[in-house]
Amino acid sequence: MSGRPPRIGLLGGTFDPIHIGHVALARAAQAAYGFDEIRFLPTAISWQKGETSTDPGHRMEMVRQAIAGHRGFVLDGREVRRGGNTYTVDTLSELRQELGRDAVLVLLLGSDQLRNLATWRRYRDLLALAHIAVTRREQISLARLPEPVEALVAEHGRDTLPNAPSGTIVFFGMPFVPVSATHLREQLLAGDRPATLLPQGILDYIAQHSLYRPASGQP
Ligand code: ATP
Repeated sequence: MSGRPPRIGLLGGTFDPIHIGHVALARAAQAAYGFDEIRFLPTAISWQKGETSTDPGHRMEMVRQAIAGHRGFVLDGREVRRGGNTYTVDTLSELRQELGRDAVLVLLLGSDQLRNLATWRRYRDLLALAHIAVTRREQISLARLPEPVEALVAEHGRDTLPNAPSGTIVFFGMPFVPVSATHLREQLLAGDRPATLLPQGILDYIAQHSLYRPASGQP
């Protein structure tokens, strides 16, 4: 490899299902930071969501199809292969070992996840392993963050992403994309076909595999 260390964006999520907001976030981050690669990391069990999510095989396949054709976007199935509750600190430790100490690793988060950060396992250790880049999600402000998160931003917040491998919190803009997987699942369960909110081919995948349908016997 020549010259500068690789810059890698990491987008974790339940992706239940992947939607246009996820792809827009990755594109905006790509434009802001010039990543060599953005890895999409579907969770095994999203322990904080407290409900059973769709089979990880389907969630991974939907991600694979949604990002096909986007240069530099890659599916990384390690969290599903590892199984059990997904903890980001474990994933970042593995990636740091594999990619080496110089790689610039950047964890990408929407504002809902930043607000939630202090509930994550060993959240303070995340910044020893990666940077965190945050974008605002419509309706979810970046003002008046929970106190421990505010303290972390005060200590680590920077205006630009440095070439260091880890350690800062930066913010990037994106056009608001008013969609959430929760709302999409509700729409699909109600029999709607929200094609414009899903990457191409995903609505067909959902129909082919009878996902997000009421359990039989229910109206
Ligand atoms: P749910 O509604 O089930 O909580 P979600 O739509 O938030 O799901 P996740 O898979 O949990 O989807 O999100 C993965 C990442 O993408 C998170 O960091 C989240 O903040 C971000 N994200 C999700 N939707 C959007 C959106 N519309 N705009 C910007 N970021 C988003």
